[in-house]
Amino acid sequence: MPDGKLFVGGEWETGTGAEITSIFPADGTVNRVLKGASREDGLRAIARAKAAQADPAWRSLKPHERARYLSAIADGIEANADRIALIQSRDTGKTLRETGALAGSAAATFRYFAAVLETTDDSLTAQRGTALTMSVHEPLGLVAAITPWNSPIASDAQKVAPALAAGNAVLLKPASWSPLVSLELARIVEAAGLPKGLFSVLPGAGREIGNLLVEHPDIAKVSFTGGTSTGRMLAKQAAEKLMPVSLELGGKSPTIVFADADIDQAVAGVMFGVFSSTGQSCIAGARLFVEKPVYDDFVARLTEATKRLKVGHPFEETTQVAPMVHPDHRDSVARYVEMARSEGAEVLCGGSAPTGEGYGKGAYYLPTILAGVPNTARICREEVFGPVLVVLPFEDEADVIAQSNDNDYGLALGLWTRDFPKAWRVGRAISTGTVWVNTYKQFSISTPFGGEKDSGMGREKGREGIRAYMAQKSIYVDLSGAPHPWAGAALEAS
Ligand code: NAD
Repeated sequence: MPDGKLFVGGEWETGTGAEITSIFPADGTVNRVLKGASREDGLRAIARAKAAQADPAWRSLKPHERARYLSAIADGIEANADRIALIQSRDTGKTLRETGALAGSAAATFRYFAAVLETTDDSLTAQRGTALTMSVHEPLGLVAAITPWNSPIASDAQKVAPALAAGNAVLLKPASWSPLVSLELARIVEAAGLPKGLFSVLPGAGREIGNLLVEHPDIAKVSFTGGTSTGRMLAKQAAEKLMPVSLELGGKSPTIVFADADIDQAVAGVMFGVFSSTGQSCIAGARLFVEKPVYDDFVARLTEATKRLKVGHPFEETTQVAPMVHPDHRDSVARYVEMARSEGAEVLCGGSAPTGEGYGKGAYYLPTILAGVPNTARICREEVFGPVLVVLPFEDEADVIAQSNDNDYGLALGLWTRDFPKAWRVGRAISTGTVWVNTYKQFSISTPFGGEKDSGMGREKGREGIRAYMAQKSIYVDLSGAPHPWAGAALEAS
């Protein structure tokens, strides 16, 4: 485990903010108690970042030289992948299989943005007069990256890699339930030789260090992933100083099974979509719509398969559903299920914590399927962020499009059908950032990701991902060699 020191502008320092306790949610044991970042720690990190970012040693690096740092970070993540996976599993309760994959994805993200950096061009624009005209891109300066606890190393990389590639300094604030893996990333970044000051990791209270990062005049952009209410508040603060923000927020994503779907494929996809990561995923397919002719059979099959999912310890290879990140979060999920019961929902499976040996001290909750409530019920509208699926029947295409869109969120959509033109029509008609057809939760770093409506604004990943951390500048260079004709006779007289 990292020793709990913070990475403040390239220096390892004990924080002076409020205490943070990282626990292993499988049994409640303490991983590390550390002191979070205070305002003063943040101010020191900002001052060091400002000096390092302005230094020509960073600012004037050629793209291939800067790309080398990103490649070295990717090498470091790969070389330490097992350690990163273990730290992240201890911090979040996720299975080692999943945290190993997240480490791989983080390394691939740094490699991808190294390549993007080397292959991204500025452009000459069409000349419309005597000036040569061009559009160039420059670093924004200091970027704050604020991340949630559910997939820390991957969401950290998704922000830190393009922001560094673009030539910025980055101040990363991870969530208080999962500070350790981001501190491990700092160790790797340091070992990769990135000039001191360009990267900080500042776990701490959102109200203190998070607020400082958003409000400080030297921070040029905040890239945030987290809940919608926090994101909305940050956007308001950012508006005060007219600072750009990108927001990756929550979801209540629909999955749709048409009567013509391959049923096994759909059952597997729906279960994976909502119950993997124990439902703690912004894109969890938490609202399932099933076409009426197959509703009863499909839901019965899905329920039986869900009961057979292996709920267990994150270090066991066969575990499919691991503990939740924290007992407090498990309790919040349980409260949502109680609320759904009070709204009239029938619990088809789950609906409680598992009992038996090995579960007692962990933040476990059984995969839960609810039915019998309309799409207007709170359980169909609000993000639970846990292993809870609500199933609803639908009549036809028009009905399922209307029900899917009747929600504040717009992050992801899963469709199961053998009819591609139908998938195309429905996928295009529903407000969402991502559509999966006959699959779910598949990702490519080359493919942009983001949400619509209350699920956020801006996109991450893809070649354009680097542009989100750059300022565009237009340059006109006169080629005529002559004084501007507007001066005319006045110039001759002088
Ligand atoms: P959260 O909004 O509570 O916290 C996210 C981050 O913001 C944390 O680092 C937190 O400390 C910080 N924060 C809190 N208050 C702040 C403030 N006043 N100023 C600055 N920073 C502040 O979210 P969470 O519980 O950590 O994560 C779960 C949420 O994240 C879910 O809603 C989930 O859908 C969302 N999420 C979205 C995506 C996406 O890409 N769309 C990905 C993962 C998670």
